[in-house]
Amino acid sequence: MSVFSGLVGQEAVVEQLQAAADGHGMTHAWLFTGPPGSGRSVAARAFAAALQCPSNGCGTCQTCSQALSGNHPDVAVIVPEGLHLLIDQAREVIERSSRAPTRGRWQVTLIEDADRMEERTSNTLLKAVEEPPPHSVLLLCAPSVDDLLPTIRSRCRLVQLRTPSAEAVAGVLVAEGVDPAMAAFAARASQGHIGRARRLATNEDTRRERSDVLRLPTSLTSVASALGAAKDLVDAAKEEADKLAAGRDGAEREALATALGAGATGKGLTAGTPRGGAGALKELERRQKSRGTRTQRDALDRALIDLAAFYRDVLSLQLGTGAALVHADLVDQATRIASATHPEDTLHRIDAVLACREAIDGNVAPQLAVEAMALGLR
Ligand SMILES: [Zn+2]
Repeated sequence: MSVFSGLVGQEAVVEQLQAAADGHGMTHAWLFTGPPGSGRSVAARAFAAALQCPSNGCGTCQTCSQALSGNHPDVAVIVPEGLHLLIDQAREVIERSSRAPTRGRWQVTLIEDADRMEERTSNTLLKAVEEPPPHSVLLLCAPSVDDLLPTIRSRCRLVQLRTPSAEAVAGVLVAEGVDPAMAAFAARASQGHIGRARRLATNEDTRRERSDVLRLPTSLTSVASALGAAKDLVDAAKEEADKLAAGRDGAEREALATALGAGATGKGLTAGTPRGGAGALKELERRQKSRGTRTQRDALDRALIDLAAFYRDVLSLQLGTGAALVHADLVDQATRIASATHPEDTLHRIDAVLACREAIDGNVAPQLAVEAMALGLR
């Protein structure tokens, strides 16, 4: 048993991190990179635990479990709010890292999605990286090194996770009790994203949402149908985001109201919202809106990744590469499109999907970007 057991198909990374936890090659700033679902933040959390654990990451002691579950006093996990890592959060990092650890050996700060930092936030954070206090360790997670300013990444030791093989992902699911055939399907369809694979294997809604998305290539018979399909795709992403927000947003509003005294009963009851309460509520609503936008974009992005893979399957059939298909369950549809079109058409379609991802990433309104893509796919 080791704290790194949860990392799937990342032998080189585990070796690197275990060595550092054992005292070989330790440094103050680390950058964990890897595609979504490869386990960047899982690796960073495990490393944080190994750094605090008296046995360098046994995975079973109280220190390990506290660090892994986010309850260790000397391990702070910072998740960007909504679309951006806020400058206040960066200031919190600086302030924390200057403190001596209360119990552990290190004062560890882990920043998930460090790529969501604006430039001025990066510049604030740079101080913590340039002149690290003796006990501080900063763990940054991002999809790739290019997502961070050169001034920051040049001061970090790089930990590169790779996309785990479908076999490795399927193995994990089977060990969790998933039927082997379902595990194999989910591992392949998720393209190595273990969280997505787990949801596909265990959640029927997730499988249905995937099927809805992958119906798009065969439904593009006219301009009207392409626009309709685009609307469906955007609506589905919005619906998914709304579903997630429904419970969370209300609970947060209630918690804030209670904290401000508005919902309190008995002693300390204040009439109406106290001064400053309106401002806090507005700020919460702004954060919730930003988070909702991000959830919606993430859902849409996943749909686009599925679509791109479908067209890569088509191309693979057209070129006769013999490679295993990502969406093996859709081999009939892919074969039909493969024989009715040319490889050049397929390349244009893959480009259309990738251009849509880039446009949304660059803040183009999703509806417009997806419509342009759907028309380009016809
Ligand atoms: Zn331990």
